[in-house]
Amino acid sequence: MAERTNINYRYFFQKLLEAMPWPVLVIDRALSIQYYNQQVAPLFGTSQLLWQMNLEQLVPDPAIIQLVRESIQTDSPRYGEHDNEARGPTWKISVTPLEHRPFANSREGELEQGALMEQPLPPYRYFAVAIEDLSELRRLERVRRDFIANVSHELRTPLASIRLLTETLEDAIDTDPDKAQTFVEKIEVEVHYLSGLVADLLELSRIESGQLPMAIEPMEAEQLVWEAMARLLSQAQRHRVKLGTEIHDGRTRVAADSRQIGRVLVNLLHNAIKFTPSGGEVILGTMLLSDGKTQRFFVRDTGVGIPAEDLPRIFERFYKVDRARSKVDYIGGGGRGSGLGLAIARHVVEAHGGRITAESNIEQGSTFAFTLPVAAQTAPTAQ
Ligand code: ADP
Repeated sequence: MAERTNINYRYFFQKLLEAMPWPVLVIDRALSIQYYNQQVAPLFGTSQLLWQMNLEQLVPDPAIIQLVRESIQTDSPRYGEHDNEARGPTWKISVTPLEHRPFANSREGELEQGALMEQPLPPYRYFAVAIEDLSELRRLERVRRDFIANVSHELRTPLASIRLLTETLEDAIDTDPDKAQTFVEKIEVEVHYLSGLVADLLELSRIESGQLPMAIEPMEAEQLVWEAMARLLSQAQRHRVKLGTEIHDGRTRVAADSRQIGRVLVNLLHNAIKFTPSGGEVILGTMLLSDGKTQRFFVRDTGVGIPAEDLPRIFERFYKVDRARSKVDYIGGGGRGSGLGLAIARHVVEAHGGRITAESNIEQGSTFAFTLPVAAQTAPTAQ
């Protein structure tokens, strides 16, 4: 006869439950917790010992408790999905009765059989409650839906203008050539905006999917500053906004993809000029932080500012504080934005291992800042 392998089942099943990616609890018919795996505590944000605790104390949600009670009363499995609040966590819950039969050849089985003789036990004494947290999945679904809605909105508005303008152009083309010319120019503006939007979308998706590798090389912080300044000088003059610099430790060499970081700086400066009324000031600065390993870049303006409730969201794709504010006619032009610039900036900075932040006071101004790692020193070559 083949030799029976001596498996410690208790230990084996305990390890099996710990290996589950989901939180699993085992309760008895009185809802008292008899076992739980390590995934349970983080889900409920507790470090307390949960043994013998009543499930109702841990899960104060009546809908979930009801589901568990139904399973206990009917001795059959129950499944449910549960939303705590409209935007709160979403859980998929399953309650499964665990049939409890004495083992024929184990010490444990002997004990259970002994107990069984004295007092017949119900076949299902324990119930497994498994919880799958779907909150992140739901959040991603919401992001995807919002994204499609936003793209559609951003495309529809200029397309509607183009359609209207072409219809009017058709009428004016023979009768009023000057007017026709203005319509053509307006169409060009819309087409320009649309191409910019599509280019930004493609860029963002390439960065997000890691298809745009950064060409990182050491370069002096002040070089990045001066190049961005040169590109925005005429726009600042047009808007009568004073453009200045505050450069400390400008010779520090940072590890940067100069094209991508240049673009981030230009975007931050462009926004700062756009949202600063004539007579205001925009400063582009850089400095080495005290850790000696991080260089900070910042763009500070004396503009309209960003309300505190919008600040945490401005790096989201398409997020605009107030659609009306960023219209072309605000502070005499500068182009309306797609709401993608800061999302791209965040991705680029994070791909460099840096962090981007924004601070703002309404009617006083905003400061956007990001960090870049200082480039590793190359050892001097021996003479
Ligand atoms: P946009 O292309 O609309 O400028 P961004 O992603 O660059 O998109 O910016 C998102 C929004 O953040 C802007 O629409 C604007 O409402 C706000 N914002 C960005 N920079 C500033 C700033 N310097 N001052 C005030 N508001 C700003």
